[in-house]
Amino acid sequence: MEIVGNLVADPPVRNLLVLGYPDVYQAGDHIPEVLRYNPIACEGFNDRLLEDYKRKGLHLNEIKLMPNGKGWLILEFGGETKQEVDDRAHSLMEHLKNQKNAPTMQLYDDKPREHQIWEIRESALGGSSFVPGKEPAWAGWEDSAVPADRVGSYLRDLDALFGKYGWQPSIFGHFGQGCLHIRVPFELTTQTGLDRFRSFMDEATTLVVKYGGSFSGEHGDGQARAQFLPKLFGDEIVEAFREFKAIWDPDGKMNPGKAIDAYSITENLKLGTNYDPPQPKTHFHYEADRFSFSNATLRCVGVGKCRREENGTMCPSYMVTHEEMHSTRGRARLLFEMLQGNPLSDGWRDEHVKEALDLCLSCKGCKGECPVNVDIATYKSEFLSHYYDGRLRPRSAYASGLIHRWARVASWMPATANFFTQTPGLSNLAKLAAGYSQKRQIPPFAPRTFKQWFAARVRHNEHKPKVILWADTFNNHFTPGVARAAVEVLEDAGYQVCVPRKSLCCGRPLYDYGMLDLAEKLLREILTSLRPAIQQGIPVIGLEPSCVTVFRDEMTNLIHGDEDAKRLQQQTFLLSEFLEQKAGDYQIPQLKRQAVVHGHCHHKSTLQFEAEEKVLRKTGLEYQILDSGCCGMAGAFGYERDHYAVGIKCGERVLLPAIRTASKGALIIADGFS
Ligand code: SF4
Ligand code: SF4
Repeated sequence: MEIVGNLVADPPVRNLLVLGYPDVYQAGDHIPEVLRYNPIACEGFNDRLLEDYKRKGLHLNEIKLMPNGKGWLILEFGGETKQEVDDRAHSLMEHLKNQKNAPTMQLYDDKPREHQIWEIRESALGGSSFVPGKEPAWAGWEDSAVPADRVGSYLRDLDALFGKYGWQPSIFGHFGQGCLHIRVPFELTTQTGLDRFRSFMDEATTLVVKYGGSFSGEHGDGQARAQFLPKLFGDEIVEAFREFKAIWDPDGKMNPGKAIDAYSITENLKLGTNYDPPQPKTHFHYEADRFSFSNATLRCVGVGKCRREENGTMCPSYMVTHEEMHSTRGRARLLFEMLQGNPLSDGWRDEHVKEALDLCLSCKGCKGECPVNVDIATYKSEFLSHYYDGRLRPRSAYASGLIHRWARVASWMPATANFFTQTPGLSNLAKLAAGYSQKRQIPPFAPRTFKQWFAARVRHNEHKPKVILWADTFNNHFTPGVARAAVEVLEDAGYQVCVPRKSLCCGRPLYDYGMLDLAEKLLREILTSLRPAIQQGIPVIGLEPSCVTVFRDEMTNLIHGDEDAKRLQQQTFLLSEFLEQKAGDYQIPQLKRQAVVHGHCHHKSTLQFEAEEKVLRKTGLEYQILDSGCCGMAGAFGYERDHYAVGIKCGERVLLPAIRTASKGALIIADGFS
């Protein structure tokens, strides 16, 4: 056997040319013409994809960057110099300009804009799945491919076929390779729906063969398409496949029923005519899943992006254990089987599910990076709330989950509290009682809380616009210097800083232990206390990404339909977001140093890191943002005796070695208390 590989250089300089056509078919027609200019990527999509984004409120700013049209091609040019790539793009533009029906065109040659355009394309799978107001769309015909010079005609015929079945799916894909990724709203729970699915697949496979294409451009055929392989290869070749497999697998034990002697495409479906999952009462509302936890557990499409090991945040527990059960996909599957009652039969008390969720660090990497935004941190929280209903939790849950209470008590006598947590011997007992590893050090309480400091100082900028600085439990009680610095920055930027007097906590640690009744109670206290300010539109600025994430993500899921919760969600900012979006003229003080930057998981996955980077750039710092994923602390996860080893492994992947080798004098910048 021989495999011939074609190595492609990774050019250091790139730009992006976006072409807009009256429809996606015409975009397809022009592929051969644009490929003559040797772009290193040629991607495409139709206007339905952007409609999906609008329904989801996704990429609204990025969409504005698209030139007019209803079908687009994105062309990336690469080379050694800016001149070279710009020349190549301009020569294509010049050629197209002189044509009848020339496309609209927009060239981007700055990294941030290019990144925004790529975001539109890269989010297509997740963005076109589970769209509010639309039926869920599924894989099945998600990977067909035809020769690049026939994409336009194929798209016309394929879209007509979709129309015959009453479907209007979003279309996107690697148009330059003729490979189209489309999720189709098959109805897979009734016999009529299954008949239509089978009939469509029969017609679609015939169509792609007519165009000299393939059912699968880059994915496997699998059971979804294998039944039709004789159309593609002919009976003789399929028989040869069968004989070849039989040499190695005479008893037919290896992945039976997939490519050879395949099961029918409607056998063994995840859904099917007997799909009737329970709809348990839940704490979260799962609006994006049509208010159903069962629907949420259906999200995973199984492509396994969560099993990559090299970059991003998702999924740290898989990256260090290499076990499917500790991946996002494994957990999503077990939750699905738990609701099915087959083969897992103990419902919310199922120990297998508990074991699989135990090493989830609740980093939310999956919510941000999984193509369909599987949100295991939320499902874990939901599961634990039921698993422990009426039962005692482990000691660490009370030690860390209720940290807002312990910290309040400690603030009356911080020296005494620190005596118990910092004195050798006593601290060992404290760690034992809290369920923490003896190898960790409990952080000391500050001698004076941020709120005590703030209450004792005179008011500044009295007649300037007000902002509320969110004094989270961690910055208030453990690192008040961070919050004091934020006050200085905001006042320097011309704002009057207000800090709620009442003791409030967003309850972030409670989510890790499924203490959701108390979490909801704390959120309602916040809404009651801040209601006048929220209704006046006063921005709330947070410093701890995981607390800001509660306001931006969990709160409206837990307290559904509360208008003030929605307002607070809209008007909560991280400090960097606020400086970028609301105080753009502020002259950020200069800091001529080197820095190594580690972003908090929730910041990278749920809030996005762009504003932080812009602010860092403005400081003049010479910085490197690490692709360090999760640091392994994840709230109190890394403190806990049973999680210490996994936590350390996560940290040792990238972050800890990078800190050890950072140049002397470099700042180590990490936002978030953990
Ligand atoms: S969890 Fe997300 S990334 Fe992992 S297999 Fe499922 S859909 Fe893919
Ligand atoms: S929250 Fe983090 S650790 Fe948990 S499944 Fe998602 S990516 Fe993995």
